[in-house]
Amino acid sequence: MAHENLPVVHVINGRQKKLLQGHPWVYGNEIERVEGEVVDGELVTVVDFRGRYMGTGFYNSRSLITVRLLTHRSEEITVELIAARVRAACEYRRFVMNRPGTDSCRLIYGEADRLPGVIADRFGDVIVLQVLALGMEKYTQVIADALVSCEKPGCLLLQNDDAIRRKEGMECFTKVLHGELPEETVISENGIRLSVDVKGGQKTGYFLDQKDNHLFVRQFCRDARVLDCFSYIGGFALNAVAGGAREVTAVDISESAVELIKRNAQLNGMQVNTVCANCFDFLRAQVKEKQKYDVIVLDPPAFTKAHANMANACRGYKEIALSAMRMLPAGGVLATHSCSYHMPEDVFVNTVLSAAQDLHRQVRVITLRRQDIDHPVLAGYPESHYLKSLWLQMLD
Ligand code: SAH
Repeated sequence: MAHENLPVVHVINGRQKKLLQGHPWVYGNEIERVEGEVVDGELVTVVDFRGRYMGTGFYNSRSLITVRLLTHRSEEITVELIAARVRAACEYRRFVMNRPGTDSCRLIYGEADRLPGVIADRFGDVIVLQVLALGMEKYTQVIADALVSCEKPGCLLLQNDDAIRRKEGMECFTKVLHGELPEETVISENGIRLSVDVKGGQKTGYFLDQKDNHLFVRQFCRDARVLDCFSYIGGFALNAVAGGAREVTAVDISESAVELIKRNAQLNGMQVNTVCANCFDFLRAQVKEKQKYDVIVLDPPAFTKAHANMANACRGYKEIALSAMRMLPAGGVLATHSCSYHMPEDVFVNTVLSAAQDLHRQVRVITLRRQDIDHPVLAGYPESHYLKSLWLQMLD
């Protein structure tokens, strides 16, 4: 049975289709009217323009995403339902993440695990939990308890300090909810050890979505001179060394990230040159110096957080691709990424390929990859596919 007597959100005609396909969001400008007293963070029923039931979700007038649906079925939202979703999310990772030498993965990926705004990453013995949607805030303890009972971590850190929380009308804070936070969190990813800063690092501390692509780079690196741009704590760089690279350079603008690259190289007994610089400037300077590399990885942050900035974002992707291609001889490999949902896959690919055309170079598309499978894509919710990973080889 669904909840009775909830306020009712009427969606304008035309927007019911995506909801019927399983999309979990209703934007403010998709709402025709609201019946009843709505309270931010509380449940509402969503109906289409004919009054047909579309789902039940949380309302938040302060968010552009005014309603986040928890279900498209006629069922009640209970703590049991939330706990069951956490268990199902953990079970999926047990199903797909049996990887030798890897002790870390994303356990909860928000809407794609039907837990809107909830992120949980497992870093070895530490789970980092973030709750980024107001409606889910009151289930924090339920989610934490379910995670602890499924995964039995040594520590669960609630890392609620993402700026998105302010937009949703919540405070930012960090708190240990279970166990004790070790002085240093060292994870294993495909046999490589990485020190991750779960408190002060970017996002939850590390980008687990690139695990599989980190491993993929190895095969191109035997005796290669490799450049890892936007390296963060060195995921690609260290895997390049593991793949037999002759020389690896990692570049990032963040000082603390560069410190961690050094620490991580040391943890693995590996040699990586580190540079703390703006990659746009660094790449330009390297081209001027006529530097050559066999493999170049580009993994910039999201240039565009909104559809409107797409032209600018394309210019950014193209500029760094042009510089990289100028330093890659025939046979050289470029792995270039976009982690912005707003950048469609075909636009990204065409942008990068247009750089090769401008240089009158022919390239081979080796493959087009995605985020690792612990970040599943939910059918009907295209926003859950965000990472594009394009691998090219220069033919001439
Ligand atoms: N490649 C990494 C993830 C990169 S995330 C991995 O596989 O784990 C993007 C990184 O780009 C962040 O570490 C951020 O500090 C860095 N960054 C952002 N703007 C930059 C710039 N202009 N120049 C260099 N690094 C930048």
